[in-house]
Amino acid sequence: MSKIVALKPTPTKRRLTFQCCYCGGAIEEGESRRHPLDPCAVVLIGNWTASDPEQPSQQFFCHMECFRSRLNEPRDLDIDTMVPGDQA
Ligand SMILES: [Zn+2]
Repeated sequence: MSKIVALKPTPTKRRLTFQCCYCGGAIEEGESRRHPLDPCAVVLIGNWTASDPEQPSQQFFCHMECFRSRLNEPRDLDIDTMVPGDQA
C-alpha cells in the first residue's frame, strides 16, 4: 500500500497582479508603474437613481492613463483634489 504524502506549499513572494479592464495589460506596482496612482479601480454602480439595496456594483481595475484617455472630457479628472475614500 502506498503512502499519500501531502506537499506543503512553499512560501513565495508572489505579488497580487491586476489586469487593466481597458487595455488588458498588467498593472505594475512600485517603481515600474506607469502612473503614481496605479493600480486604480473604477466602481460601476447600476441603477444609480434607485435606493442603495437596488444598486448592484462591481469594481474594475485599470491604469490611470487608460481611464483618463477614455474620458470624454479628460480635464474633468482632477487628480490634485482627490482624497482617500474614507474622507470623501
Ligand atoms: Zn491599461
